[in-house]
Amino acid sequence: MANASWHDPLSHRARRCYSTAMKGPLDPLNYDTSRAVESWWRASAPPWREPAPLACDLATEVAIIGGGYAGLACAIRLAELGIGSAVLEAGEIGWGASGRNGGIVGLRPDKLSDNALVRRYGEDEFARYARACVEGNHRLRAFCLEAGLGDAVQGDGEFYLAHSARTAIRMERITGEHGVGIEHLPPENTQGIRRHGGIVIRPGFGIHPLRLVRALADHAAGLGVRVLPRSEVTLWERDGPRHRLVTPRGAVSARRVVLATNGFTPDGLNRRFDGRAVPVISNIGVTRVLSGEEKASLAWLGDRPGADSRNLLSYFRLLPEGRLLLGMRGDIRGTAAGAAHMRRAVARRIARQFPDLAGVELSHFWRGPICATASLTPSVGLLRDDPSIGHAFGWHGSGINGAQTGGRLLAEVLAGEPQSHIPAPFRGLAPRLPLPSLHPLYVGAMQGMLAVKDALS
Ligand SMILES: Cc1cc2nc3c(=O)[nH]c(=O)nc-3n(C[C@H](O)[C@H](O)[C@H](O)COP(=O)(O)OP(=O)(O)OC[C@H]3O[C@@H](n4cnc5c(N)ncnc54)[C@H](O)[C@@H]3O)c2cc1C
Repeated sequence: MANASWHDPLSHRARRCYSTAMKGPLDPLNYDTSRAVESWWRASAPPWREPAPLACDLATEVAIIGGGYAGLACAIRLAELGIGSAVLEAGEIGWGASGRNGGIVGLRPDKLSDNALVRRYGEDEFARYARACVEGNHRLRAFCLEAGLGDAVQGDGEFYLAHSARTAIRMERITGEHGVGIEHLPPENTQGIRRHGGIVIRPGFGIHPLRLVRALADHAAGLGVRVLPRSEVTLWERDGPRHRLVTPRGAVSARRVVLATNGFTPDGLNRRFDGRAVPVISNIGVTRVLSGEEKASLAWLGDRPGADSRNLLSYFRLLPEGRLLLGMRGDIRGTAAGAAHMRRAVARRIARQFPDLAGVELSHFWRGPICATASLTPSVGLLRDDPSIGHAFGWHGSGINGAQTGGRLLAEVLAGEPQSHIPAPFRGLAPRLPLPSLHPLYVGAMQGMLAVKDALS
């Protein structure tokens, strides 16, 4: 019998708040897991046999909510450490950001400068954090090669292009430490376009994100993890010392639960997490296959993925198939009208940054939420007052590596390491922001401020 009588964040009130549709501050269409997101990645991925949904009741040691990089990496590490788990995903595997991102595998999942991190956490914790991210990137590349994704791994390093002469001067002072390599790119003048130069940061590379998340799911299943797509958790309740997660066709009983829902964290599923994961929309356009001449105009870009140095950055890659991918933030509610507007905005940004490609049509456009937190750092750990509940979210748009490194660290803590095992910038529960329904307005105000800062820099 379910028992929800203790001081209870999973109270009857909380249960009433959460219905079968995932709910958060964005327009409901952003939470419709019954529809796959028609991205270039989905169009270009080879056929894949997805595991079956949960169709009966099941008991496991750790139940993980969210079948993206964080949840799967946590499950894989738990299996390596001899601990069983089940991963419950509301949509298809990778339905969330993990199957539809820009595929740029970078380093740190925060939004603070090195100096700010050192001031907040101290030099030693900053160094542990930076090294964990570097190791995570190397581990991920090795995984991709072992998992047969060699043809989807692209480039050596991630570039940051200075968007102004002033930023270029600041970039000249950047040096690598804690295993990070920095190569300075000189300013250049190609085809009449002046570029201010920038840096290449290593390690870094490009990947096909949907193939990656599917490979992780296969690897997890091979290690004995129950990978359960199309199994949305609609109710989370206590059952004595255990947790009970209810899905449409079966329930999971687990001693411990991990929340790995990032930008899709549903309000009301567990009130302890309400208001802590802030979704921020990122939009991606992919062009038709470029002609030889159009591709030649991008020769300076090479096959490395990267971004410009604006706070409201755009990120871009010349894909192996000869298409340009460009992504940018914008739109705060995620409505259909907002999508149409952002599709045009992406096309305009391509024309501005790559004048030779002005007017080249987009064959694909899609979007999804990245996840920010009020601390501007990730949120990984066990709840202080209930260590049977873990969380791993808040990757600030850099989660291909961040979510997997964070998910692994959480698994190690679930296996017995102390919480201090997690480097401080990753560790702890993100602060709650008041009134979740107003989060898009906070995001809009923040983006407005950053746009002004970019214009002045
Ligand atoms: C458009 C876009 C571009 C991006 N580009 C990059 C990039 O180039 N490089 C980079 O490093 N990062 C990028 N990111 C960020 C990166 O994709 C994410 O940080 C990362 O995928 C997060 O992984 P995750 O497992 O934490 O969350 P997700 O992959 O979002 O997984 C969370 C899952 O939880 C599921 N869920 C929610 N509620 C429930 C429930 N009640 N029951 C069951 N399941 C539930 C959701 O369906 C979802 O699939 C981008 C993100 C977006 C949206």
